[in-house]
Amino acid sequence: MGKLGHCHKAYQILVGGVFFSWRGFILAGDSKHIVVVGAGITGLAAAWELTRTGPGIEVTVCDGAPRPGGVLQSEKIGEYLVEHSADMFSCEPEGAIELCRQLGIDGELLCTHEVQDKAFVGFGDQIAAVPKGFSLMVPALEGPIRDWPFLSAEGKQRLLDEVNIRPRASDGQDDEDFRSFAVRRFGLEAFEKLIQPLVSGIYTADPKRLSMRATLGRFLDMEREHGSLIGAMQASRGAGGDASASGARYGLFRGPAGGFGELVSALHDRLATTCCFRLETAIESVARSGDRWCVVPMATGQVPIECDGVILATPARVAGGLLGGTEFGELTSELGGIEAASSAIVTMGIARADLQLDFSGFGIIYPHVDGGQVIAISFASNKFTGRAPEGKLLLRVFIGGALQGELVDLSDEELVKIAIGQLDRSLGYEGTPEFTRVVRWKDSMPQYHLGHVAKVDRIEGLVGEVDGLELAGKSYRGVGIPACVQSGVAAAQRVMAW
Ligand SMILES: Cc1cc2nc3c(=O)[nH]c(=O)nc-3n(C[C@H](O)[C@H](O)[C@H](O)COP(=O)(O)OP(=O)(O)OC[C@H]3O[C@@H](n4cnc5c(N)ncnc54)[C@H](O)[C@@H]3O)c2cc1C
Repeated sequence: MGKLGHCHKAYQILVGGVFFSWRGFILAGDSKHIVVVGAGITGLAAAWELTRTGPGIEVTVCDGAPRPGGVLQSEKIGEYLVEHSADMFSCEPEGAIELCRQLGIDGELLCTHEVQDKAFVGFGDQIAAVPKGFSLMVPALEGPIRDWPFLSAEGKQRLLDEVNIRPRASDGQDDEDFRSFAVRRFGLEAFEKLIQPLVSGIYTADPKRLSMRATLGRFLDMEREHGSLIGAMQASRGAGGDASASGARYGLFRGPAGGFGELVSALHDRLATTCCFRLETAIESVARSGDRWCVVPMATGQVPIECDGVILATPARVAGGLLGGTEFGELTSELGGIEAASSAIVTMGIARADLQLDFSGFGIIYPHVDGGQVIAISFASNKFTGRAPEGKLLLRVFIGGALQGELVDLSDEELVKIAIGQLDRSLGYEGTPEFTRVVRWKDSMPQYHLGHVAKVDRIEGLVGEVDGLELAGKSYRGVGIPACVQSGVAAAQRVMAW
């Protein structure tokens, strides 16, 4: 590049056409300037990879928000530590744990409490633990299914008969919607009362539109390879799999001791010495300018940034809007087709003694067929230490999602009332919360609809034809934090290779 970018760093001096940075290394005269749009965990991971492995690359990170982290936000309320979105991440795939290792903070991560690691289903005013050995869809043990209170005898039999249900005829289709797949394999009742809430708790999706291939593709493969999912589970048990593991494999999950805000700060602090952050800089458009790129902020007073490459780490629809115009018409229209759902979280601190039932578990999920307004109640303080003071519980109540998105627009008071009503119905709550907080996440949960994988393949094909442009983030190949980190890292590596 050979000239100062728009972000003039005080610690760089220009001597004889090359940069010397205060860290002592030389930024070559032909170094490149890459702009990352979006400072969520994806954009931060991309910037980290660029600066970690590509010394000499000048990196600018722009975000419309006043602080980095995107949806990852933690807040200390008295002695409570509140997460406003994600509260844990999986060690598989390895993206997030590897990032923590690189930052030197992996030793500070907490494991989940083993004794509490059960999920419950709530139906009417009853709750029951997810049957032992039941993993998202597949029962590994017959006894716990026979004992489960919410399924009729016919429903249980149909669920267990999955092993005798013939696989779908191969008609060249590699995808199926989640509802059709689960009902076909396990029957309507097990789908409605057990499988739908377990999966919706993760994807907040409409089961009739959710793509199996994009979210639960391994189950499609199990059917194809073994004829049935129970058969596949039995084969894996024969090969040393654990039949008693149920629900999510909580042993794989970790949470930063100080909350995700701590992870974001660690990353931001390290990056602040090597790249330029332009927060409160919402971007309006990104366009080619000769063989370079021009990133244009929305605010009229903010100068456009010229650069050699751009990584768009925003939600897909935003990325489509930024590219706008006719040059990228097909790409823009594909990106615009990736929808997102909204949800609200009511967080409360309550006295444990105010619950009539002494609840020990990570949370309660509610089947849509139960007709309630709550997707799930998560017991944050049962998952990790340090989330609530002694004798108190920290709860997060999830409302909305793809099936009831309109609830997100209710007032704070109405949402708190729904949350407390559900808590009372399930566990008998008589008290006044020590505090309540309502956070709304509008259009924040990408929806991987039927055909999503093929759509992302097309998007990647189109992006691959454009020099210096990369897309990354939750909208494409995984919404979880590890997948987002990996997508940011991969985008950085591609842009550097280019
Ligand atoms: C309520 C909730 C709970 C979750 N729980 C978990 C969990 O427990 N575990 C887990 O692994 N995952 C969880 N997730 C998913 C995970 O947290 C997210 O998918 C991930 O953090 C998304 O990161 P991202 O950087 O791709 O997107 P985001 O965090 O959405 O960041 C995108 C960034 O782009 C910026 N931006 C948008 N438009 C512009 C523009 N025009 N100009 C400049 N900047 C712009 C935004 O301000 C934002 O900072 C949860 C998500 C939600 C919403």
